[in-house]
Amino acid sequence: MGKLLCPAGHSVTGDAFRNSTQRIEREEEMENKKIPVLWIVIPCYNEEQVLPITAPMFLEKIGQLAGEGLICAESRILFVNDGSRDRTWEIIRALAKEDPRYLGIAQSRNRGHQAAVLAGLMEAKEHCDITISIDCDGQDDINAMDDMVRQYLDGCEIVYGVRSRRDTDTWFKRFTAESFYKLMTKMGAEVVYNHADYRLVSSRVLRAFENYREVNLFLRGMFPLVGFKSTSVYYERHERIAGESHYPLSKMLGLALDGITSMSTRPIRLITGFGCLVALISFLGVIWSVAAHFMGVTVAGWSSMVSILCFLGGIQLLGIGVIGEYVGKTYMETKHRPRYIISDRTWEEGRGDDTDSEF
Ligand code: UDP
Ligand code: MG
Repeated sequence: MGKLLCPAGHSVTGDAFRNSTQRIEREEEMENKKIPVLWIVIPCYNEEQVLPITAPMFLEKIGQLAGEGLICAESRILFVNDGSRDRTWEIIRALAKEDPRYLGIAQSRNRGHQAAVLAGLMEAKEHCDITISIDCDGQDDINAMDDMVRQYLDGCEIVYGVRSRRDTDTWFKRFTAESFYKLMTKMGAEVVYNHADYRLVSSRVLRAFENYREVNLFLRGMFPLVGFKSTSVYYERHERIAGESHYPLSKMLGLALDGITSMSTRPIRLITGFGCLVALISFLGVIWSVAAHFMGVTVAGWSSMVSILCFLGGIQLLGIGVIGEYVGKTYMETKHRPRYIISDRTWEEGRGDDTDSEF
């Protein structure tokens, strides 16, 4: 980590100490307080309306943080174009030309928010000490970054941005999002309640995270697995500044399903438990029907029979469906396909086509 920190001139320097113990203490203190290089990682998908508004806000933020001595002036803003179909990439390239603190990479096609964030983080980790991933629509309060960086300087390696209130969300969005977190926890996936993908992660953590090679990405559930000292900072969520959400209910359900089935096998166990219960009840039913037959109580009727058959058929199909979900995931994982492919970088334009990277 040390090699990437600000040059000595930026860090907290001290006078020479005569006493060597004092000097060692001072050096340890300095080591903790060295000013980190920050890269802000921002996924963008069809964001031509919002990007020209929010990009200067991010730039202002790193300027302010650097001015306060919390981060190094070499900090950067990295936009990840996730295969946008509008003018997003042109805007990013223009921004990169305008100010060297803006950088951009483009995915070769749209792969979804999670892959875009991962691509950005993996790109950034070689150049910085800390990353902050944030959406580009201005919904997450960028002022929470101050606290995030302070928590890092206090020794935390991961700082989760947590939404304290969701007043600006519609009732439906709030209800579905909160049910999502509750369901995730109940189903055994460890997630931080009301934390999306606004978080500070040190490059040290990212180097460990690199070894999590799964294709079905659910970053907010994967980072807690890495460990390291972590904490949360709270902020109020705003409304989207412009444009519209790319997370309709269908995508949210997809993310929830991915999250649960990639992070936990509890659904399989639940189905197994339920199957055992139904089998036990059916067994008692068989005993009862045999006994009723010998007692001469004729409880004839195909309707009850059919309903039992349907019920069992339904349970079986449900069970097969859940198992199929895991088999499908295993199949995808065994392919070891790249999780993202970078086709362009704003700082390597015109340098030929041998710069693509995949992971
Ligand atoms: N995004 C992305 N790829 C996608 C969908 C979304 O990179 O396929 C980005 C999008 O540009 C934004 C962030 O992910 O920066 C969150 O998306 P959005 O604001 O639409 O979701 P919401 O906040 O409504 O849940
Ligand atoms: Mg948003």
